[in-house]
Amino acid sequence: MAVRIELEPCINCGLCRRACPTDTIHFFTTGRRTHVIDPAGCIDCDRCVQVCPEDCIVPNVEYVHDPVELAAAKEQAKVWAGRQNRLRRAVRERAMTAARTVAATASDAR
Ligand code: SF4
Ligand code: SF4
Repeated sequence: MAVRIELEPCINCGLCRRACPTDTIHFFTTGRRTHVIDPAGCIDCDRCVQVCPEDCIVPNVEYVHDPVELAAAKEQAKVWAGRQNRLRRAVRERAMTAARTVAATASDAR
């Protein structure tokens, strides 16, 4: 299954778009400013639903996935997850290095 955005209550905050692991939420600035989900790339991961402050992301019961497009979307989500893990590791390592430097400086000052 996929999800869709109910346009009326949507405030175009962009949180769903930033949370989506498959980049399948698009923002259009022409005409009515709006966020729209391309269901072909949706893997029903629920991340956008969880961050939406207006609770306006709902099941798209009419959409039926083509198995090939669904497999491609899942593959894209895997790549996204790998990138997020690498980022998290890099941030943690940087924080630990900074903490060690502070501890060493404090110890030298005694
Ligand atoms: S359910 Fe997941 S894949 Fe589908 S639009 Fe929301 S965040 Fe993207
Ligand atoms: S998170 Fe909700 S309110 Fe914000 S842009 Fe997405 S659908 Fe709209």
